[in-house]
Amino acid sequence: MQNNAMTSFARQPWFLPVAVLIVIILWLQLSPSTGGKGGDGVGLGDSISHEQVKSLITSEIRSALIDTAKSTSTDGTKFPPVKVLPDSQRLRILVTGGSGFVGSHLVDRLMMQGHHVIVLDNMFTGRKKNIAQWVGHPNFQLIIHDVVERIMLEVDQIYHLACPASPPHYQYNPIKTIKTSTEGTLNMLGLAKRSKARMLLTSTSEVYGDPEVHPQKETYWGNVNPIGPRACYDEGKRVAETMMYAYESQAAVEVRVARIFNTFGPRMHPNDGRVVSNFIIQALQGKDITIYGNGKQTRSFQYVDDLVEGLMRLMNGNYSLPVNLGNPEEYTVKVRDCPFLCFFLFRRHTDAHSPLSFSLPFPPLARNPQDFAVLIKELTKSNSTIQMLPATKDDPRQRRPDITTAKSKLGWEPRVPVRVGLAKAISYFAKELEESGEIVPTGSDPTKPNQKKQLGGF
Ligand code: NAD
Ligand code: UDP
Repeated sequence: MQNNAMTSFARQPWFLPVAVLIVIILWLQLSPSTGGKGGDGVGLGDSISHEQVKSLITSEIRSALIDTAKSTSTDGTKFPPVKVLPDSQRLRILVTGGSGFVGSHLVDRLMMQGHHVIVLDNMFTGRKKNIAQWVGHPNFQLIIHDVVERIMLEVDQIYHLACPASPPHYQYNPIKTIKTSTEGTLNMLGLAKRSKARMLLTSTSEVYGDPEVHPQKETYWGNVNPIGPRACYDEGKRVAETMMYAYESQAAVEVRVARIFNTFGPRMHPNDGRVVSNFIIQALQGKDITIYGNGKQTRSFQYVDDLVEGLMRLMNGNYSLPVNLGNPEEYTVKVRDCPFLCFFLFRRHTDAHSPLSFSLPFPPLARNPQDFAVLIKELTKSNSTIQMLPATKDDPRQRRPDITTAKSKLGWEPRVPVRVGLAKAISYFAKELEESGEIVPTGSDPTKPNQKKQLGGF
């Protein structure tokens, strides 16, 4: 009986159009993405604003949906968790050199903050493994590209890091290093001008050259040899700074300039030949710790997380003149000589270059600046001996940042003690060693990244 009534109902000529209409209305009611929502005046065919869509979904449901969408890639790989930002706050941020050591840590922070990050890198010293955690994420894009070539993108901020930072690597192809800092920076400034993006340049303490002023303030103009082996990097960065301020005054580009002092941490290139990577991998493998020159030269080392914090504060703050970012804790490179009497006062370390020289044990009675080689030997519990090698040309004799500007203008100062940072760097290099079996330290000669053969006096 009931079946008969339904069948005759369905046979009515108006049944099909009415049924189709009901289905369409129900579908529009239930589907936020097509703009369906009841009672707000949005009709069939009307476009719906982003605000209207957002008001349909409670914030909890929205977070859950977006988080789920972004924490898993199509192949099921888990991504690190990212914050969910409304469109109005999510910036498109370009990081040139983003697969390098510093760049990849910066990318991590920006991604976790919920921004859309584009990495532009020619992979000269960058490594895909540094950014592998983001590949496939909807907020992340990797473009293999050389900054020396023009590129058209639409972005809100540019962190311009692209440039090799280690002396053997930037000296490998000095002409290319100059082009990267000059043509590359010009291209990025053009992009910043066209897309009205704010741009931050990672300059360097090398703009102070072999400084005659100590510690170095931003107002110091430097002492650079314009034709020496470091000039391709030093002068490249100096003219890059000049370009930044020319574009600021002539084309109203918003610019920021960070003068970065020696930075270390996980993801440093194991073959970059720098003092931190070399000493750690030498000490971990029981190889000689190589010291260039008399070792009395000083450096100040900051942990990479502190640097990234400083770069982000600088980018997002109002201060547009150059700012030193570094840790003022100063070290001499070499194990300090100790008079014979020290033997009776301190534990003896092997120090091959002089029978009457002993390294100070840790902690020494008075140590300012401290000895970097001793610190690395102590932290790695290594028995490596010290090998003295010829000095490299134009090696700056002293370097320590005055960070008054960063403190007062950015409210920034380093937070990670050097020893704590070094412990993290040591476990990173230990893992790299485990994976590759052996790492041959890179010498002071110009070297192509990833070149395996030994160079420079080993
Ligand atoms: P890095 O060598 O690890 O990273 C540089 C990145 O830039 C790499 O990924 C490399 O492939 C890329 N790159 C180089 N030339 C390029 C080009 N022409 N086009 C596109 N990509 C290119 O070095 P880092 O230590 O991460 O340094 C990053 C930035 O910070 C550099 O600008 C460097 O001058 C500056 N800086 C670093 C230190 C430090 O101690 N690490 C100190 C002072 C300044
Ligand atoms: N250095 C050294 N042995 C090494 C590598 C570097 O004595 O195996 C010295 C180098 O001569 C310089 C200092 O350590 O005085 C820092 O060198 P690095 O290449 O790390 O950076 P720089 O500050 O010179 O760019």
